[in-house]
Parts: sequence; C-alpha cells; structure tokens
Amino acid sequence: MKAILALDQGTTSSRAIVFDAAGDILAVAQRELRQIYPQPGWVEHDPREIAATQLAVAAEASRGFDIAAIGITNQRETTIVWDRGTGEPVANAIVWQDRRTAEMCDALREHEPLFRARTGLVLDPYFSATKIRWLLDRTRIDPERLAFGTVDTWLIWQLTQGRVHVTDVTNASRTLLFDIHRGEWDDELLQIMNIPRSMLPRVIASGEVAGVTSDGIPIAGIAGDQQAALFGQRCVAPGMAKNTYGTGCFLVMHTGGSAVQSRHGLLTTRAAGASEFALEGSVFVAGAAIQWLRDNLGIIRHAADVEALAASVPDNGGVTFVPAFTGLGAPHWDPHARGAILGITRGTTAAHIARAALEAIALQNAEVIEAMRADSGIAMRELRVDGGACRNDLLMQLQADVTGLRVIRSRVAETTALGAAYLAGLATGFWKSDDLQWKADRVFEPGSLRTDLVEQWRDAISRVK
Ligand code: ADP
Repeated sequence: MKAILALDQGTTSSRAIVFDAAGDILAVAQRELRQIYPQPGWVEHDPREIAATQLAVAAEASRGFDIAAIGITNQRETTIVWDRGTGEPVANAIVWQDRRTAEMCDALREHEPLFRARTGLVLDPYFSATKIRWLLDRTRIDPERLAFGTVDTWLIWQLTQGRVHVTDVTNASRTLLFDIHRGEWDDELLQIMNIPRSMLPRVIASGEVAGVTSDGIPIAGIAGDQQAALFGQRCVAPGMAKNTYGTGCFLVMHTGGSAVQSRHGLLTTRAAGASEFALEGSVFVAGAAIQWLRDNLGIIRHAADVEALAASVPDNGGVTFVPAFTGLGAPHWDPHARGAILGITRGTTAAHIARAALEAIALQNAEVIEAMRADSGIAMRELRVDGGACRNDLLMQLQADVTGLRVIRSRVAETTALGAAYLAGLATGFWKSDDLQWKADRVFEPGSLRTDLVEQWRDAISRVK
C-alpha cells in the first residue's frame, strides 16, 4: 500500500509514523533518546544517536509499506556542527533547553533590537546562533570545513549520505541568523556572531523536495515541530491557531503574509506555507503543574485523576494557583516571579487546589491569546488543540469559557507528524490540498465568559510580580 512516512525527531524520543492516503495512522515506531546533562543548565544529545534511533524507527515503521515520500519534523533550535569531510560531529548537539550561552547573550545585548527586527526572536540562549559560536570556539577544525545544521538538516545529511545540506524556512527562522522578512541568511547578523556563511545549509521551502534517499524516496516536507503541528491542524489562514497542551503549552497563530512585531513578548516566526508568518507564545508550566500536584503534593496518583478531583467541587472556592515555578513568560516576562497559592481558607480542600491548577493552565493561555490579539489586531477564530493534557474535558471547557473561543480537539492526536506528512504528500502529488481533511474529535462551545476568573487571576498575578 502506498503511504507517507513522517519522521518526528523530538527532544525525548525519535518516532516514525506511517500515514495512509486518508491521513490515518498505519504504523508507529518509537525509541527513547538519551538526555546528557554535563553540568547544571546544560543539555546535550549525541548526534549519532539521534540519527541511529531515527533511522531505526523509520525502517521499523515502514516495513511492508510502499513509501511515496518522507516528511521530517523535529525539535527546533538544537544545534549540531560537523566536519563535512569526515561527517563527524565536532561535539554533542546542544539542545534547545541548554542555558550555557546566557552570558554570551548578555554580552550581545546592544544588538538585540537588530536581532529582533530581522529574526522576530529575542536574544536568548534558546536559539541556535550562540550555540554555534560556542562550538566554533572549542574546535580547532578550520571553519571552512564545517557544516552547521538543526536536527532536520542533520537527518537529511544522513539520509542522503552527505549529498544534501539544507534546512527549511521554519527551522531557519529559529536560529537568530535568518531574516524572516527577506527569507535569507542575514550577513550582518552572521558578522556580529562571527559565523562563516559557508557553514550554513541552503534554505528551502517547507513543502519542497529536499533530496532523495539511497532507496530513491523523496524527502519532500520539512518543518519544525510547532509549525508542523500548525500545518497538521490545518491552520493555514490568518486568525487560525493551535495550542499543544503538554509539559508547557505552545500556542501558535497564523498571521497570513504579514510578520507581526510583538509588543508583548511573543515571537514572530515563519509558518510552513510560502511567505506565511505566525505569532508564537508559550506557557512554561502547564501539564507540569499537574505533575506537581501528583509528585510534590501527592493529591492525585495519575495526571488524569485531576479531572475528577477538580470536578468534585462546583468552583475554586476563592483559591487561585499561579504556577510561576520558573518565573512568568509572555506577556509578563518576569524571570524572578515565583509561584503562589492564594485565597486559602479553613474550607479549602485538595479539590479546590486541583481546580485552580486547571484554571491556571487555561488562564495563562488566555493571556497569550489576548497578547496575540493586541499585537496583530487579528481576532482568533477558534482554537484547535492537541497534546497529552487536551484529553482533559474540564480543562478544555474552562479554556473555552475564559477565552470565549470554540475549542476544538483534533481527531488525530499526532498533529505534528501529520503536518510533516501533509507537506511531503503535497510536494510529491500524493495529495492535493483539497484531500487534506481535518476532523474534529470534540468541540467545546464557550459558555458565558468567566470574567470573574480572569479578574481573580489578574489580581493574583499582580501579587506574584
Ligand atoms: P510532553 O510532550 O510535554 O512530554 P505530553 O503531550 O505527553 O507532554 O503531555 C503530558 C503532560 O500532560 C504532563 O505534564 C501531564 O501532567 C499532563 N497531563 C496528562 N494527562 C492529563 C490530564 N488528563 N489532565 C491534565 N493534565 C494532564
């Protein structure tokens, strides 16, 4: 049977998923990826292991199917530098979470407005540029011999035996070196970072044939994980947005052909379509707050138990939970803030705290959605959701009630892999755009707007700050 293979190279695992012509899943294979923590704040992966696990699951999942094309989606920003001659990495991959270049970013602070204007990003260790500089500072190999790649680039290099050195616009737009407006590497930023242009991959569209494997299969779709999910959720017009509920939440809204500069600490980035842009905002602690109820307070045994506990009370009983464990992200950006549980009385129970934790996830997302509206002037139409915690119906209903938006859960949970598959299938004629059906699992209609919760939250935030 003809099918599309999606490679989903994530932070904790390499996965491969085979989709049939109807967009349904035929096979899945997955391997864990070792996390390497050499020092506090440092996170590395072994590039050889990234490639080996990804190629192994690809072979396992695709056995017995006639693969028409391969799509790739990947953990973004993670940085690999290797010797073009030998194919050997100069060091381990520096993972997106790694904070080792924080001081380097501080030293570059005078250039921040330029980085922001050209790349849509903030100057932060999260992105690739300072990670590349770190690796260059620690190798004796002539930079002219070296190649840089994000994980998509590294995998394509492996799949084509070093014949193809490319990345796509969505991955390029997370490096701090790519002018998202002109769609090209930026020589001025390269000069500031002292990174030779010769190291960089050629940038192609997300839905373009990048190369062909030794078995003759086209690699035809590439997108970073969040942009792939946006595409997989079929958010391809201005105001369409998706939210992924996992450890944190990742909200991305399509803004059409215009790159919206944020005044509220959101990131501007390229979407997978041609000359299309998106606004991105993340909530650091979402599902992690539920883990905290489970592991630190011990009031639930499994994450999914939070729904029944929270539903056992009619309201939060005046309790607000601000899970600012690592500071506050957009739109507040206060790294020094810490969490708080407010409004506790003699009558407060574990159920009120559980309910307040779910409300906190929904309210943090509501603030990001409000920032997106204020920055773009585009009213979000509805919110399409995926990720582990979106299975919580109470949370989804709260999300609808605090935003006034319809919240729609996708039928296919694997929206990231599906997005990469769609890109590859479109580029090779396996699908036409009319073929790409998006199906809802369940729609959560907003009830009357919960301005009471929003106000209670605002008050709590001001205290936490
Ligand atoms: P990640 O990809 O970030 O590891 P997942 O998409 O696997 O995350 O989702 C797991 C997260 O979702 C965990 O933080 C967990 O606490 C939370 N979670 C899982 N199920 C539920 C649920 N039913 N209600 C609320 N949170 C949940």
